[in-house]
Amino acid sequence: MSNAHLAEPFRIKMVEPLKIISKQQRIEAIKRAGYNPFLLKSDEVYIDLLTDSGTGAMSDNQWAGLMLGDESYAGSRNFQNLEKSVEEIFGYKLVIPTHQGRGAEQILFPQLIKKGQFVLGNMHFDTTKAHIEISGGLAKNFIIQEAFDTQKEHPFKGNIDVQKMEDFIKEKGTKNIAFILITITCNSAGGQPVSMQNIKEVKSCAKKYGIRVFFDSARYAENAYFIKQREEKYKDTSISKIIKEMFSYGDGTTVSAKKDGLVNIGGLLCFKDDVALFKKCQSMCVVMEGFPTYGGLSGRDMECLARGLKEGIEEEYLKYRINQVKYLGESLSEAGVPVQLPIGGHAVFVDAAKLLPHIPSSQFPAHALANELYIKSGIRAVEIGSLLLGRDPQTHEQQKSPMELLRLTIPRRVYTYNHMDFIADALINISKDAKSVKGVKFTYEPEILRHFTARFEVAE
Ligand SMILES: *Cc1c(COP(=O)(O)O)cnc(C)c1O
Repeated sequence: MSNAHLAEPFRIKMVEPLKIISKQQRIEAIKRAGYNPFLLKSDEVYIDLLTDSGTGAMSDNQWAGLMLGDESYAGSRNFQNLEKSVEEIFGYKLVIPTHQGRGAEQILFPQLIKKGQFVLGNMHFDTTKAHIEISGGLAKNFIIQEAFDTQKEHPFKGNIDVQKMEDFIKEKGTKNIAFILITITCNSAGGQPVSMQNIKEVKSCAKKYGIRVFFDSARYAENAYFIKQREEKYKDTSISKIIKEMFSYGDGTTVSAKKDGLVNIGGLLCFKDDVALFKKCQSMCVVMEGFPTYGGLSGRDMECLARGLKEGIEEEYLKYRINQVKYLGESLSEAGVPVQLPIGGHAVFVDAAKLLPHIPSSQFPAHALANELYIKSGIRAVEIGSLLLGRDPQTHEQQKSPMELLRLTIPRRVYTYNHMDFIADALINISKDAKSVKGVKFTYEPEILRHFTARFEVAE
């Protein structure tokens, strides 16, 4: 491995032993799991790269906060600390805690969407899209075309094609647009960032037509770090200032705190100044999540989040975080394993369509690769491709995803550079004998969210 790596900006105070079962046991385990890594038991996994959501490690400061939980039903001290952190970081005063990101979505979206209206964005996350649809809306993506070419370098592949979006607004008329939702970083496009310039342009377009702008900000801190690295104008601006500026262009945000918030569970719904909307959402919060000063979280959870939010924007931490993911991506890329370039914030995406051209999209090449990676090395990763995309709701035909990706999602502050080397070696070894990897076909296909529970067999 030729890439230089930064040593971790922390030392390890507590360890969680990992079990490594034998290859024979893994073959039996994946067979029992119907060749679907989601159905494995976590004890059967050595390195778990299924998601970066809620899988991070808390700091000693956060664990200490856990002991200061004020479990009062209303007006908990920890809620007040959380409000302070949010205002300090996002510049938003109106705060509702929720049990996780989708808790915020289910409260907010029905307030904003009338039946048949469009929600415009770069690329909506899957639960976000589902909540838009449940609320009667239609999710529409306007991500720039460059995002679909994994080998094309572009500093901000999460950007919105503002011209295309504006043409759409003109065509449909503003009364048919519910709001604009900018996802930072753009998870579904490979953790790719959105530039400040683009956020500003979206805002000015929205203003012209009187449309609200919200952020879906699971990875806002990673987005800010990329802005600092890649947008010349911001190279000397602090992360904290960049984040404040980003959010100054929005009316509010839903947040999954399980990512950059550095907690295992939690979410937020925040507004800049729309008190009427805030109050409506507070009432809905009582019904769906809990009283508005706890929103489905215990006091101790809110304290961990209040502290995690602050740690998640520290520059030393972000530098380590982004560079660890980049190190893995570059190790793969340099060895000829095709990955989404440039490397995104929270994950490395292997281009399985390129690596396994002999497997048709109908046999889910990235899912086949996930199974192979598990059998060979005990690593669990996840398909982001045609399996996830599913069938056309009208014709029930299998849709072909523009990309067949295997996502290697890196939990925060959990694995070391030695783990990254192990992961890279495992995939490089598979790539040397890529032709031997076989596709999969369904033995059981559930109707909704099929990727979680589907079962497969190896296609011969
Ligand atoms: C994770 C995520 C969500 C949903 O949040 P949960 O905490 O999982 O409910 C929404 N949007 C994006 C971009 C996400 O990454």
